[in-house]
Amino acid sequence: MTHSMPAPLDPITADAAALDAADPLAPFRERFDLSDDIIYLDGNSLGPLPKGAADRIASVVREEWGEGLIRSWNTAGWIEAPLRVGAKLARLVGAAPHEVVVADSTSVNLHKVIHAALAAQPERKTILSEPGNFPTDLYLIESAIRTLGKGHRLVLVPREQIAARCDADTALVLLTHVHYRTAELYDMVAVTAAAHAVGARVCWDLSHSLGAMPIDLNAARADYAVGCGYKFLNGGPGAPAMVFVAERHQETLETPMGGWIGHARPFAFEDAYAPAPGIARLQCGTPPILSLAALEVGVDLMLEADLTQVAAKSRALRERLMARVAATCGTYGAEVIGPPIGQPRGSHVSVAHPSAYAVMQALIARGVIGDYRVQPDGPGVMRFGITPLYLRFTDVDRAVASIEEVLRTGVWQAPRFQVRQAVT
Ligand SMILES: *Cc1c(COP(=O)(O)O)cnc(C)c1O
Repeated sequence: MTHSMPAPLDPITADAAALDAADPLAPFRERFDLSDDIIYLDGNSLGPLPKGAADRIASVVREEWGEGLIRSWNTAGWIEAPLRVGAKLARLVGAAPHEVVVADSTSVNLHKVIHAALAAQPERKTILSEPGNFPTDLYLIESAIRTLGKGHRLVLVPREQIAARCDADTALVLLTHVHYRTAELYDMVAVTAAAHAVGARVCWDLSHSLGAMPIDLNAARADYAVGCGYKFLNGGPGAPAMVFVAERHQETLETPMGGWIGHARPFAFEDAYAPAPGIARLQCGTPPILSLAALEVGVDLMLEADLTQVAAKSRALRERLMARVAATCGTYGAEVIGPPIGQPRGSHVSVAHPSAYAVMQALIARGVIGDYRVQPDGPGVMRFGITPLYLRFTDVDRAVASIEEVLRTGVWQAPRFQVRQAVT
């Protein structure tokens, strides 16, 4: 008897319901509090609420805070939470458990890492990044240069030239692994190796890749990394962020924010600062326990999933979306930007349109929630985040049908869709 395998379904053309039925990640959707009335395509900006996070927060509030009171710093593991959640996160980024801690925001962690990297190699004065990098990354480099006043300079070169521009004066190369607007993806191994070849160090901002694809910081021999808790990790609005420092740099690391929680003996209340051993010194003040509890639920959920499957489904969903938008919306002036189908890229799709802001508002009014970003030298873009834990192939088809309808009917021209919101 011979068995013939069913032909694999083509994720671009196959029937969406069949793809959903064959999806190994499908059971994750019910772990999130998501209404069927919306299609959520903004999990790259604010992940939705895991059901477990609502329960966990309620119990942290009632039992740990309400009943345990201050005892909970010890009895409920509050004081270890930044290192405990960091060790879990380490598994998502190819780091050792003692190389990651959760503290503060991505911006604040960038501040710490930039200063640490410049202090480590004071004779080198150049910090290399790319124009159009996420603003906070560039602003924090600028502010470090201003406050240090030691003649450092920021050099911005297009991504293809980064490796070639690294030289003996380069202290730090600071790049965002996946570009927030275009979804372009750096080759982490190659860029890190090029920087190391001339003695420079590299910091990767993982905000748009953490939880969306397998990452291996130690295989790339990355020096530093930061990453966001409230995007693909579903850690809740303003969730604290991760910071990674390779073990080889930890004992000499000078943080510009040596607060008491990062002290070697916080409860000795000594007058003089002495850094805690290892990654713990990147903590500054008292950790935000409620936010850490929510983040831990998001991280635990992500650890249940196989990131290789997540990346494969991300590719299938986004290529389906890209192909269908190109086929049905191109005549209305919509254009998919960033790496084309078949090329490596991050887990969101950006579609440029001369009235992208209003079109997105009209989509949101219909329950298709993405967001809008300005483009420096071109029309604005609609961003659609692809999050495989809860998005279905049928969602992609419904979303594209809505985009096509909004564009074809011109409903986006209604005045109410033209008004810019404070947060978009
Ligand atoms: C989202 C994001 C941040 C966020 O920084 P916050 O301090 O949380 O505001 C930083 N960098 C990049 C590249 C991001 O995408």
